[in-house]
Amino acid sequence: MAISTLDIKINQTTNSRIQQLDQANIQFGKLYADHMLVAHYEHGEWKQPEILPFGNLSLSPATTFFHYGQAIFEGVKAYKDVHGNPVIFRPFDNWKRMNRSAERMAMPDVPEEIFVEGMRALVNIDRQWVPSTEGTSLYIRPFMVATDEFVGVKPAEKFMFMIITSPAGPYYAKPVSIFVQDKFVRAFPGGIGFTKAAGNYGASMYPTMKIKEMGYDQILWTDGFTHKLVQEIGTMNVFFVIGDTVITPELSDTILAGVTRDSVLTVLREKGVKVEERQLSIDEIVAAHEAGTLKEAFGTGTAASIAPISDLTYQDKHMVLPPVEQWKTANWLKQELGDIRCGRKADVHHWLFKV
Ligand SMILES: *Cc1c(COP(=O)(O)O)cnc(C)c1O
Repeated sequence: MAISTLDIKINQTTNSRIQQLDQANIQFGKLYADHMLVAHYEHGEWKQPEILPFGNLSLSPATTFFHYGQAIFEGVKAYKDVHGNPVIFRPFDNWKRMNRSAERMAMPDVPEEIFVEGMRALVNIDRQWVPSTEGTSLYIRPFMVATDEFVGVKPAEKFMFMIITSPAGPYYAKPVSIFVQDKFVRAFPGGIGFTKAAGNYGASMYPTMKIKEMGYDQILWTDGFTHKLVQEIGTMNVFFVIGDTVITPELSDTILAGVTRDSVLTVLREKGVKVEERQLSIDEIVAAHEAGTLKEAFGTGTAASIAPISDLTYQDKHMVLPPVEQWKTANWLKQELGDIRCGRKADVHHWLFKV
């Protein structure tokens, strides 16, 4: 099914809220841009997508996703390039990942024409909402939910795909204090850890609340069998620099294939840095820390880009990392990715999608 941008129905607002956007003081997730995109799936096909003023929905209380959580999402960002034009970072990768999540959750594929072209049209109509100061962006949230009006348990037949956007300020990543989780589990083989399913987030709220009460910022998740193999931190992929090697857990059905993770691996390999994607045990991290070879540890994700880790607590071991200012890899990565996103560096991988 081919849907060109022309086939998106546009109902433009006559009442823009753009004057509410204070570029010098952006509070993430407080303010949404003027428009949203909605597409409905029914009788085995996607209907014409519509861009309309951002606003509330009206849904039956029997709507399936309220009860059984057939709900998935994505997170993408648009930036202003050096010429002031909005560019979207690697939207095709998010589109492919959305459809991997959709398959696992028994939801329909979202066509590229709706996901990518719909996103382009939405960012275009709200281009004034893409902030232009250093480090800011427009956060783009595509999502899909099951919308059958039926409380019986079965895969739904009706779905709704939407995209909303929200300006995001510069992310001053204060290094995070990590609790190595050896009781609760985020993802297990055969499960949905590799998807951006809403339920993964719901399930992580309680363990996260508990470690916050103890004074930590985020959880380093470990595997459910041995509680030794590290997976991710919070909702970010995780990297460790041991000696001169950058190590991240290899992809599997318990690891979310982050677009930032892939970007980091790509630019590091290009620079000739030794990188390894493999199983990594917490014992190896403890041993490296004791030997003085644990140099850096950081999370990666669209929201924070690169999030440095200040310390890790595993059982009775408290491991403090060297001060972030001394780190080579994470600081270089942050700069490099920032330069690529804003067009200060050549976009050799065609990661920037012009709006
Ligand atoms: C979204 C997400 C990430 C980061 O993915 P990016 O594509 O880099 O934003 C990592 N882990 C989990 C669990 C996630 O949901």
